[in-house]
Formats: sequence, structure tokens, C-alpha cells
Amino acid sequence: MDIASLPLTALKGVGPKLADKLKRLNLHTVQDVLFHLPLRYQDRTRLLPIGSLRPGREAVVEGEIELADVVFRGRRSLICRVSDGTGHLHLRFFYFNAIQQQNLARGRRLRLFGQVRFGPAGVEMIHPEYEFTDGAQAPKAEENLTPVYPATTGVHQLSLRKIARQALEMHLDKIHEWLPPAVLQELKLPTLTEALALVHRPPPHTPVELLAEGKHPAVVRLAFEELLAHHLSLKRLRARVQMEAAPPITGDGGLTHQLLARLPFQLTRAQQRVLGEILHDLRQQHPMQRLVQGDVGSGKTIVAACAGLGVVESGLQAAIMAPTELLADQHLRNFTGWLEPLGISVVGLSGKLNGHARQDVLERIGSGRAAIAVGTQALFQEGVEFADLGLIVVDEQHRFGVHQRLALREKGRQGARRPHQLIMTATPIPRTLAQSLYADLDVSVIDELPPGRKPVETVALPSARRVDVVSRIRDACTAGRQAFWVCPLIEESEALELETATDMEQALRKALPDLRIALIHGRLKPAEKENIMASFKRGEIQLLVATTVIEVGVDVPNASLMVVENAERLGLSQLHQLRGRIGRGAAESHCVLLYQPPLSEMARARLAAMRETSDGFEIARRDLEMRGPGELLGTRQAGMPLFHIADLLRDRALLPRVQSVAELVLQEYPDRVEPIVRRWLGSAEEYGRV
Ligand code: ADP
Ligand code: MG
Repeated sequence: MDIASLPLTALKGVGPKLADKLKRLNLHTVQDVLFHLPLRYQDRTRLLPIGSLRPGREAVVEGEIELADVVFRGRRSLICRVSDGTGHLHLRFFYFNAIQQQNLARGRRLRLFGQVRFGPAGVEMIHPEYEFTDGAQAPKAEENLTPVYPATTGVHQLSLRKIARQALEMHLDKIHEWLPPAVLQELKLPTLTEALALVHRPPPHTPVELLAEGKHPAVVRLAFEELLAHHLSLKRLRARVQMEAAPPITGDGGLTHQLLARLPFQLTRAQQRVLGEILHDLRQQHPMQRLVQGDVGSGKTIVAACAGLGVVESGLQAAIMAPTELLADQHLRNFTGWLEPLGISVVGLSGKLNGHARQDVLERIGSGRAAIAVGTQALFQEGVEFADLGLIVVDEQHRFGVHQRLALREKGRQGARRPHQLIMTATPIPRTLAQSLYADLDVSVIDELPPGRKPVETVALPSARRVDVVSRIRDACTAGRQAFWVCPLIEESEALELETATDMEQALRKALPDLRIALIHGRLKPAEKENIMASFKRGEIQLLVATTVIEVGVDVPNASLMVVENAERLGLSQLHQLRGRIGRGAAESHCVLLYQPPLSEMARARLAAMRETSDGFEIARRDLEMRGPGELLGTRQAGMPLFHIADLLRDRALLPRVQSVAELVLQEYPDRVEPIVRRWLGSAEEYGRV
């Protein structure tokens, strides 16, 4: 039987009950067991002299009990002193029964395994594993390093070891090698079976640090194939979509030209180029799948509106989806302002809408009377039927995560036809990474900001300097400028965040009695939020105290000052997003990052990066180096780790080879794609079928 479908119960000692528990570790088949890698290793291959023990390490020793005593020091414990002639060691047992006490007696010889630590009387082990070696023949030392697997309640480490050993001994030969020998040779990597055998049972003296750091060729081999599987999966998805029919786009771009002619500005060259790429895609037979990366403020929204017009012109609908209601509202205002003068009907749909208003919107979407629908994820919930959806725009994709993005694409499907998809993100990532993570997409970059933008002058100040900052705000607002005062999440609690923001608002009102101040946060009713944003936009509110609800996309060009509280706690890309709210108008903009000293090294590096650069790509690169890609790409938010073994940051040097090997496999060994993808992603989790 194929090892990928061989059930766990095929292993000796695994009944239905244990198999059930193993599911909690995501182990379903014998193959899964082979791919369940140890977290770390114990070295039980060597007997160490007691005199050589160092605290902090695990060790096997053998010796004779010289002294055994039950003492009451704080708590009742059994203490044995063991010696092997090179030194002595104390064993400490807090839990023991009468028989154990009887056995652990003076004169007995035993072999011990445990963690060495420093105790009151020199080196000691607490509750070591032990085995008597007098009388019976001495136990053999282990031949290999002992694996320690990720375990779960009810599944003992020892049974995991037994299961893994059995899977290895009985079934390893059923694992197919899919990588061509030439590739392995060139990359100097072991075969898959060699790699698996090594990681489960490393021979003595294997450099375990290299295994732990993922730098050992065996781990690299596994990571390589996992990355390859993901890449192939995305490539295949892309190929499948290219076989599908797209809604036919026939217009001549007249509407887009009308819109552009009415705008108070000209598109930047980068915007024009990207729009050209989009319009070209829209005229193809198959659905567009394009990602637009553009730093905060690069003007992605207008590009999306032009793309929308491109499909509306052909009598189709466009759906624009934003991650928050605040942003959806802003888009709705923008799109309405831009498009209704052209006679195009725009509706908004988000979670807050209900009753008649919702019915009305649904009816307009369903009948096709609404050409453009702007909203949150509510756009793709049950009960929303588009008359003829031609384009889905997903804004701020990094807030959604890879899995959600792919799920969404499926939802937008209409019969045999699949709408065009345009994905926008303000989190630019380095090219090789983008080519891996977005292998199913074409990528465009808006690499230019609208003219006249001045970089935001950024300073970091200890919070003790808040008084100075308050008076700067007073001066600036009195001179007609507007400011944000951001109070981000301090604890993992929205309520607490709100409390700090509320307190701050009150303090600021007291300190700045002449300013018009308002507070905006996530708990306000949508209509209230909308009102506040609208009057801030009109300039009626001078200082807006906010939680991080304003992080994404909010656009008020006259706001040129921002204070961020507790800036040391925020991630780099979040700070960059926040700061992107200012520096959008003609005025010189300033950002003050307040922090609570002392700063950790990481926090210091983040604040330095913010001071030194405002380039989103550079910020992303540094963020990647500091934190790893999970957070950057939003996979963590989406709650699903992308990889079991690979790590995009650690393994990024492999990515170009992964991409070229993927091409090779697709060209020369197309029938291996399916088994490779299935081995690593499983059939249920496969991209595009989520
Ligand atoms: P983002 O890429 O962050 O979504 P937006 O689409 O919100 O950026 O655009 C930021 C601001 O820049 C908006 O006020 C928008 O109207 C303006 N804008 C967009 N393109 C241009 C341009 N070519 N020239 C001047 N202003 C522009
Ligand atoms: Mg935006």
C-alpha cells in the first residue's frame, strides 16, 4: 500500500485509541510519522565520568550509591549520593514509594540519565531515569542519539519513539525519491530516505546544533522538498486558473480615460505602468491573478478604481474588499466620489449593514444595478450573489494571509467562469521571496510615490519628554495642521488599549483646552467612526486620538503630525503602516515615536530603522531580518503556519534553486508534481482547494 495512505494502525502497538490521540499531533498516516521530526536529541551513546559533568547538560553516568537518606528540607525528599571514582553526584527524588526507597540503597550500582544541575552540595540530578546494573548484565548504550519528539497529553515520548523507530525500520523503503539524482548531486544533498534516517536516528557525534538550526544537509534536504512542494502547488494552481475562462472584457477604456481626465492629479509613471499591466491582463482569455505591491501612499486605490472601470465598461461588476470597516468606508467614499459623476452606481456592504438597508444592497448587487460593491469580507459571505462579477480587488492583502486569499478566490467563482483578481499590498517583500510566496500570481510594483511627498521627519523620544511633544502639537495645530496621537495595543486586550486611549484623550484635553480633540477606536459604532473620520477629514477635528484602527489605509492629507505611544512595542511594518498615515500632503510631516526606556536591543534596532528610512522595501527587508517572515506575511495572523520544516527566512538562499527545480520537475517529470505536493501539503490542505 502507498505509504501516504497507510494508516497508523498498521504499526504494531497502535490501536484506534492511540491513533486518535496521534491525530492531535497531525499524524494520520505512517508517512506522517516519518515526517514528524524531533525537536531535539539526547546523547545516550556515551557514558560520562561523573567528574566531567557540567551543569545544564544531559548525560548518562554509572556509579554506586554511597549514601541514601530521606531528608525534610522544605519538603520530604530522598537523596542519594552516587560515585564512580571520578567524582560524586546527588540524586534528588521528591516523589518516591517505599519500594523505590528500599531499592535505592547504599551499595547498589546504577546507570543514570538526566539533566545535570548545580545543587547545594555540588552537581545533582532531579528525578533521573535509572536502571540497576549490578546483578544483571549491563544495559547496552544507545547506538544513536535519542530523538525527543513534539508530544501531546496522553502520548508518551517513549511510545512516540517506538512508533517512529518502527516506521523507520519497516516502512522507510516505501518512501519514493522524487528529486532527480542530478539535482541532489548538484546541491550536495542526501536522498530523502537518508535524510529521514539521519534526523530520526543521528549517529553519535552528529553536530546536533546544525540539526537544530536547520543547517545540517539532512534538514536542508527536507526543507528544500517542502519549499518545492509549496512552489509546485502554487504553480499548478496558476496553470489551472490559466485553463479557466475569464469574463470577457471588451471595452475601449473610455470610462477610465474620463475618470483620469477629471482627477486633480496625473498618475505617476509607476501607476500608469501597473495600470497598463492590469488592463492587458483583463483582455486575456483567462482570469487575471495579479498582485500589486506599492508602499503606503503610492496610490494603489486609484489604480484599483481604474481596473474596476475596465470591467464595468463591459457590463460586469467589480467587488472591492478591505480588511477593516474603516478602510472599507474610506474606499466607499473615494469610489463614490470618483465614479458616480460618471453615472456608475457604487454600493457599500459590510458587517454593520442590516435590515432593509442590507436587503436593498443585496438586491442591487444581485440584479446588477450596482456596478461596484465596496466592503469588508462581508462581500463574500453567504447570501451575497453577484449578477455578473468580473473583478475582485483585495486591498491590504497582508492582513488576510495566504490561506484566506486562496479561499477567497474560490468563493468568487461563478460557474465555469472565474473573475479576474487583483490583490494589493503595502507590505513589499524582497523579490525572491515574492516569487515563492506568490508563485501563483503575476507581480507588479508601484515603485514611485506621487510627486511632492516629503519624507516624514522621524524622532524617537523617551516618554518623559511627552510635555515637549504636547506643546509641539499645540503649535502645529494652532498653525492649521492636524495630528494623530496613536495609543497602540499594550496588552493583548482591546479593552485595555481602549482604556489607555481614553485616558490619553482626557489628559490631552486638559493639556490642550483650545484644540478640538476627538477619540476614535474599534469599539465605536460604525456610524460614529464614520462621522469622526469625516470631520477629521474636513479639518473640524484638529487632534485625533486613536487606537491602531487607523493603521491601515486611512488617508487624510492635511494630517502632518503623528505621535505614537509605546512605539517600542510595535513591529517595524506596523510602525511603517502607521507612519504612512502622514506625509501625504504638501506640508513637512513629523512623526514622534515615544518609548518607555530601557529599550531592548530589538526595539532599539526598530526605532533606528524608522528614523533612518521611509522606504517600504528597506523596512520590509529589515523587518524580515529581525522577525522572520511569518509575521510579515500575515500567516501568523491567519493562524496557520505555512511550513512544517522549512523557514523562509532561514532557507531563503534556497529559494532560487527551489524555483528552478520546480521548473525542471514541471517540464521533465510532470507526473511527480502530484505526489510531491501531496506528501507535504496533504490532499485536504492543498492550496486552492481550501
Ligand atoms: P495607498 O497606496 O497607500 O493605498 P492611496 O491610494 O490611499 O495610497 O493614495 C494616497 C493618496 O495619494 C490619496 O490621497 C490619493 O488620492 C493620492 N494620489 C494617488 N495617486 C496620486 C498621484 N498620481 N498624484 C498625486 N496624488 C495621488
Ligand atoms: Mg491603500
